[in-house]
Amino acid sequence: MLRLPLRRLGSSAAALATPPSMTASASSGARLLLSRGAAAISARRAYSAKPAASTSQLPGIEPSKLTITETTKPGTLPPHNELVFGRAFSDHMLTIEWDESQGWQSPEIKPYQNLSLDPATCVFHYAFECFEGMKAYKDKQGRIRLFRPDKNMERFNKSAARIALPTFDQQALTDLIAQFAKIESRFIPDERGYSLYLRPTMIGTQKTLGVGPPGSALLYVIASPVGPYYPTGFKAISLEATDYAVRAWPGGVGDKKLGANYAPCIVPQREAMSRGFQQNLWLFGEEEYVTEVGTMNFFVAIRNKETGAKELLTAPLDGTILGGVTRDSVLALARERLAPEGWTITERKYTMKEIADAAAEGRLIEAFGSGTAAIVSPVRTISWHGQTVQCGLKEDEESGAITTQMKNWIEGIQYGEEEHPWSYVCE
Ligand SMILES: *Cc1c(COP(=O)(O)O)cnc(C)c1O
Repeated sequence: MLRLPLRRLGSSAAALATPPSMTASASSGARLLLSRGAAAISARRAYSAKPAASTSQLPGIEPSKLTITETTKPGTLPPHNELVFGRAFSDHMLTIEWDESQGWQSPEIKPYQNLSLDPATCVFHYAFECFEGMKAYKDKQGRIRLFRPDKNMERFNKSAARIALPTFDQQALTDLIAQFAKIESRFIPDERGYSLYLRPTMIGTQKTLGVGPPGSALLYVIASPVGPYYPTGFKAISLEATDYAVRAWPGGVGDKKLGANYAPCIVPQREAMSRGFQQNLWLFGEEEYVTEVGTMNFFVAIRNKETGAKELLTAPLDGTILGGVTRDSVLALARERLAPEGWTITERKYTMKEIADAAAEGRLIEAFGSGTAAIVSPVRTISWHGQTVQCGLKEDEESGAITTQMKNWIEGIQYGEEEHPWSYVCE
């Protein structure tokens, strides 16, 4: 089943190393961008490395075959105030192996443990790795809830398919993750703001230095109890608009959650931090389109220059933006609950200059990042070409009204305080 998508990328293993379609796209894309602008490019070129869905007859993921081996050394949930993101892990892990001749094997929940992999395993050499980030929440009745897991599963499959890893039945994996979350229930603090961060991960496990589709893979899920991103209330962050490095580009893989996308962002982030900024605001192209902030999507609320109408603006999913579940939720809630109050909700390309102009003309209302970890993260300033763009907060304010409203709406749904189809009760 894996062979299908690969043939579309390049017919031989050598071609896979530097798929001609990709290198050509990226460089001619950049040239075109300089001369004609991005709209012209998207009209001219449809980037199309779209792996077909699996049509394999091999066994899929089968939740009824789950085996559970409980740990003999149960750990304890660290004190709430000591929870650091991604440091402590729960007692167990969910694992499912795959290989090209037998398909998906029986899922296992077993004690959290090291993996044992040959040094030649393809994940270590060619980055056959993709992941997801989602959370399990405990509601007032003690039930465990996931938030829009279907969205994470859909994205996980798209990421996996793009790097020739196997795809899977989305409902089957959701079902297994729900069972896993229930087993780890005591690692989920029952307090609003706290949750169990879940990290579904897939790696290519074939032992080979040959560049080609992995003949075997491991899907696993680990879990880390986490506290509120802002334990003492919102703290607005300062950004550095980054024009000397690019996070994602047309025809690339910035819209997939591939591990390979993240390591190259650390040096620019360290640079920004050394100058006193918390995150990079990733710009793209000569036009300096605003894309994302750190590993979050980015929203700005402005007053439209012509109409004066309030507008909530974010970049479109053009292949350079990771389609966040939180982004999608913010947009949907805004369309449902802010549009009737006169807001316009817009997904379009916009430039850093537009933001700076809006700020200069007193039209910038607020700005925030969005992602699973923080839900929303208010932004105070953006440093751009030596100027400091003020993003609408008063000196004694840490969050704008829309940012706060979005956090409360989304949290209310996540913790089951508002009954909503996005909340998935694990039963
Ligand atoms: C994961 C991620 C996001 C946010 O996605 P959510 O599904 O909302 O957590 C945004 N941008 C990047 C680059 C990401 O990796």
